[in-house]
Amino acid sequence: MNNAEKNLFGTVAIIGIGLIGSSIARGIKKYNIANKVVGYAKTLKTRKKAMDLGYMDQVFDSASDAIQNANLVILCIPVGANRDIMIEISDNLSEGTILTDVGSVKAEVIKQLHDIVPDTVSFVPAHPIAGTEFSGPESGFAELFDNKWCVLTPYEKSRKQDIEKVKNFWERLGMNVDEMSPEYHDLVLAITSHIPHLIAYNIVGTATNLTEITRKEVTKYAAGGFRDFTRIASSDPIMWRDIFLNNQEAVLEMLDKFSDDLSSLREAIKKKDGQELQKYFTKTRDIRRKILQQESK
Ligand code: NAP
Repeated sequence: MNNAEKNLFGTVAIIGIGLIGSSIARGIKKYNIANKVVGYAKTLKTRKKAMDLGYMDQVFDSASDAIQNANLVILCIPVGANRDIMIEISDNLSEGTILTDVGSVKAEVIKQLHDIVPDTVSFVPAHPIAGTEFSGPESGFAELFDNKWCVLTPYEKSRKQDIEKVKNFWERLGMNVDEMSPEYHDLVLAITSHIPHLIAYNIVGTATNLTEITRKEVTKYAAGGFRDFTRIASSDPIMWRDIFLNNQEAVLEMLDKFSDDLSSLREAIKKKDGQELQKYFTKTRDIRRKILQQESK
């Protein structure tokens, strides 16, 4: 067995077995990353499903029981639920345990957990930027993270050697790993992920509320663009509620910029300024080309 194939951890405890938690569990098994993977889920239905699908060695109905003897604990629940779970488990975390999370928001999560994380535990916040519009214990797959980016936002409670271990963990799951400050992460994700989701929720909501076009016609002629929006707008409502509540500042900042640009486009349409519209759409097409070029590297 070469070095890359050695188990990184004895036991990994996954708190929350949804899309991300179950994908991590499957990946740990597929790539031999730990000796044992255990989990906690709130509902019996999820615990049963996770065991039936065979990617968990053991599941618990208490998060405190799940983390006993774990070397790595990963919070995979909606960001608004982290604090209550941490209050429940913090006294039971063993000395030297590494704690990480997968939350789509970083600064607020760190702020909420900072005073609860024991000094004997190293907290390395993380965000694997990989997902689908599906949720639940049956929706995960080991390859979800393949060749995607994971952002670590280490801070004063992250020990240097543990940052390396968490980095190694995500790399073994197939990801490329970057580091940045929590605040910068939140600003970048506000424009690349949070605002696009908000726009999708908004446009699908607006179309549904129209009275002059019937709901039947919206569904019937939902080709191309609108159909793509409905896919994004079907993402988990609780997860997204928590993202907007916890990344308020960055989202509002980016939303203001977005609204300014939208007003300019509205003005160009009103003035029948074809040149301006064409210039804008050409610029955005170039961005798409650059993304595709980056992906094919
Ligand atoms: P998910 O599929 O909806 O799963 C959420 C899990 O959290 C379920 O196991 C659920 O338990 C549990 N849960 C919900 N509320 C809880 C509470 N109050 N206390 C304890 N457990 C609770 O969600 P997900 O997509 O895996 O997202 C999990 C985290 O990953 C979120 O923080 C999200 O920001 C982050 N993330 C998501 C994506 C994405 O695209 N989905 C990408 C990157 C990061 P039950 O099933 O028992 O109800």
